[in-house]
Amino acid sequence: MAKKQFKTESKRLLDLMINSIYTHREIFLRELISNASDAIDKRYYAAMQTGNTGINRDEYEIRIEPNEAERTLTVTDNGCGMTSEELESNLGTIAKSGTRAFSEQLENADDINVIGQFGVGFYSAFMVADKVTVYSHKEGEPAAVWESTGEDGYTVSPCDYEPIGTKIVLHLKANGEEANYDEFLQDYRLKSLVKKYSDYIRYPIKMQVGRQEKKEGTEDEYETVYEDQTLNSRVPLWNKNKNEISKDAYNQFYRDTFYDFEEPASVLHIRTEGMLSYTALLYLPKKPPFDFGTKGYKRGLKLYANGVMIMEQCEELLPEYFGFVKGLVDSPDLSLNISREMLQHDRQLSAIANNLKKKIQQELLRMIKDERDAYSEFFRSFGRTLKFGVYDNYGVNADFLKDTLLFHSRSLEKEITLKEYVDAMPEEQKNIYYAAGDSLQHVLKMPQTERVAEKGYDILCLTDDVDEFALRVMREYDGKQFVSVSDPTLDLSSEDEKKAMEEKKTESKELLDKIKTALGDKVLDVRLTDRLKSSVACLTGEDGMSVEMYKVLRQMPNGDTVPMTFHLELNPDHPLFAKLAALDDDKLKEYAELIYAQAMLMAGLPLDDPAAFSEAVCKLM
Ligand code: ADP
Ligand code: MG
Repeated sequence: MAKKQFKTESKRLLDLMINSIYTHREIFLRELISNASDAIDKRYYAAMQTGNTGINRDEYEIRIEPNEAERTLTVTDNGCGMTSEELESNLGTIAKSGTRAFSEQLENADDINVIGQFGVGFYSAFMVADKVTVYSHKEGEPAAVWESTGEDGYTVSPCDYEPIGTKIVLHLKANGEEANYDEFLQDYRLKSLVKKYSDYIRYPIKMQVGRQEKKEGTEDEYETVYEDQTLNSRVPLWNKNKNEISKDAYNQFYRDTFYDFEEPASVLHIRTEGMLSYTALLYLPKKPPFDFGTKGYKRGLKLYANGVMIMEQCEELLPEYFGFVKGLVDSPDLSLNISREMLQHDRQLSAIANNLKKKIQQELLRMIKDERDAYSEFFRSFGRTLKFGVYDNYGVNADFLKDTLLFHSRSLEKEITLKEYVDAMPEEQKNIYYAAGDSLQHVLKMPQTERVAEKGYDILCLTDDVDEFALRVMREYDGKQFVSVSDPTLDLSSEDEKKAMEEKKTESKELLDKIKTALGDKVLDVRLTDRLKSSVACLTGEDGMSVEMYKVLRQMPNGDTVPMTFHLELNPDHPLFAKLAALDDDKLKEYAELIYAQAMLMAGLPLDDPAAFSEAVCKLM
């Protein structure tokens, strides 16, 4: 039988496992047991689909068998088993789910300790074994055996393993100075490992345990009697009482099940009974998974019917804007052989989804109130998703999202909620002001913010491309309109000031026309504004749309048809403005070009002709 080589990616992971001097090598058992449990789930599920229930539900089991004489540890399951092709593709290549993500993370992991927190999969067997033999038999297929010493590839050959399922034999490594592998042959050690890592596995994990018993008919002669012991309590974590579950247990379950290195930002354990009975265990992650925001990312919760998983990822349970939530729902009311199509229309399911939505909402609001730092961290990861939620769903049942948003406050120099903004408004302030730019630094220096800030009004600094769109969709908060500092109707002046402005407009009409003629099609219009203070000019889009919004629109499909021409707004109180009136036409044209170029730069836009600009500046100097 020819040896086959592992795929490169798998090889690297394998090397890591083989050479691991890692104290958490004990987790190999958890990995093998969890694979066994998955395999039983698969067999059970397949049997249900075909209506042929195979063996009885209570016959499913996982068995652990230490053999001191042979120095082997065997893990057996009566799950779905694998064909020789499956042995090859599943064990010869790094598996799809957890293990792959782990190996990707390895690139940047500076601490190999993360292994213990991660589903590292089948290869972890090589942390304790120098040879692994896997016998497997899938129903209706010939049995096969896979064997490897890790380093020089693996073999797959036919064999006559009778029972349906898989038997994995670990030939334990020789004891060395740094490690004693005999511990994995000891009953008490194996028992405690199962308790620690696999207690909530639903299928019984059995082991033959010896007990000393008096020999019948004798006074002081003892014999060892062996009997099966079930090592796990089999109660899924979520079915235990909240007060029986430690924070560690919640977190461990999260990391094992959802392959995250980090602890979750928050855990929700929900149990309802009555009209609608279900248990849900939800986690808000701290950091987005590596594929979050890509097409590859699938949202959803695991769905169980009375402890049996019926769907790996039930999308219907979470709205898109809560797509980051991880977790599961277990309900006794769901029928086991419910099909995907039926689920989509299931009233039960949408009622659960609706309840969960409210719970998540409450939790976010609670965090904002009680755990602001944790929420800020969470919001940095998923705030964009919530803001898109506002943009896509406002007015259709997602209005509560407005209170989950955080924006940077210019005056307070920290992130605040809309409610906090409104609560801090001076009495005479009517609107909620915002300014948008591509970075906080840019927004803080925007000329358009000068007058509003001078008035003593706070400004929300928007730096995410979706921000301004979200605010525009909401229109108002608590009866206060959102107003861009670029808005043409920005109303900050007193009656007297307004009158004075009208006069200035009439006076400067000729000058403004001349500047417009000088600049031609580069600008929509040249007009006076009262929103500036120390700057002479700024650019504003149609309808008060900020330049930032134009930039975003340009990025969208067909965005290149969006014209990048703006209103040039001038500050009549700026000393330079007074000078303009005295210039002859040629000079005026030069100055107009310079002012326009400056405004472009301030708005973070590229100049049409940087060389000409630089030349003009030099000439002036
Ligand atoms: P993961 O469990 O994350 O998919 P593993 O490396 O643990 O990755 O396992 C690789 C694959 O091998 C599994 O996805 C599964 O298809 C298969 N496998 C492992 N152990 C068993 C088993 N006991 N019975 C059936 N299939 C198994
Ligand atoms: Mg696995």
